[in-house]
Amino acid sequence: MRVTVLGSGTSHGVPSIGCDCEVCRSTDPKDHRTRPSILIEVTDGDTALARRSAGGAKAAAAVQSILVDTSTDLRMQALANDIKRVDAILFTHSHADHIFGLDDVRRYNQMQQGVIPCYADADTLASLKRMFSYVFEPPKQRGGGIPQLSIFRIAGPFTLGGVEIVPVPLFHGHLPVLGFRVGTFAYLTDCNRIPDESWPLLDGVRIVILDALRHRPHSTHFSVPEAIAVSQRLGAERTYFTHICHDLGHAQTNAHLPPGIELAYDGLVLEVHD
Ligand SMILES: [Zn+2]
Ligand SMILES: [Zn+2]
Ligand SMILES: [Zn+2]
Repeated sequence: MRVTVLGSGTSHGVPSIGCDCEVCRSTDPKDHRTRPSILIEVTDGDTALARRSAGGAKAAAAVQSILVDTSTDLRMQALANDIKRVDAILFTHSHADHIFGLDDVRRYNQMQQGVIPCYADADTLASLKRMFSYVFEPPKQRGGGIPQLSIFRIAGPFTLGGVEIVPVPLFHGHLPVLGFRVGTFAYLTDCNRIPDESWPLLDGVRIVILDALRHRPHSTHFSVPEAIAVSQRLGAERTYFTHICHDLGHAQTNAHLPPGIELAYDGLVLEVHD
């Protein structure tokens, strides 16, 4: 399985509009963060390993390409990472930074000649239907086309092309949202609390992408010290922080994080082997 961090930034993105701070003016590409999203590609494991060990630059073909959220920056993320397929979309919640790129999936409908299944909890589905009424209650005239989607309510673990997806209930302030676990990998964005009942769902995870907005506390996101504590309790081998705001410079912050914990960045690719 291969996980690509498409966007590692908070809702404003980094640089933030009109900001002249050191991080927003940084020339380090890792300080340039688009809105949060990842792509999970389930690959033929043997092929991926073989090609990697042979030093081949060409990655194994995905057998299932799963997009998590459709960020505001989806089009640029798809171009930057040359995403050729989207077989399914998982939604964590319906905040604007996680859904406003939905219209761009039209291109995948066109290329794949098919409808794309979307998975979300009941509240997120209701919000999607309201916020994208032109998709779900389309007008008669279909000028430029609209996304062709089928929607499924998440009520527990399910499989996509033979891959088990485990939804992990989290709290984002008072808002219930979903993280996702696939094998030994977990994506836990937009959260500042993992409820007691969700910890067992994360038993044995080895690679985690976790919300860590900034050093200072926030009402709906983990701070860096809180996220470090979560990472240590999870016992993950590697933790990558995401949903990062302009308070955190990539290199400066990484220099002070404990071993096994670092900031994610746009374009980061993780190979996950079970
Ligand atoms: Zn967000
Ligand atoms: Zn700034
Ligand atoms: Zn959010």
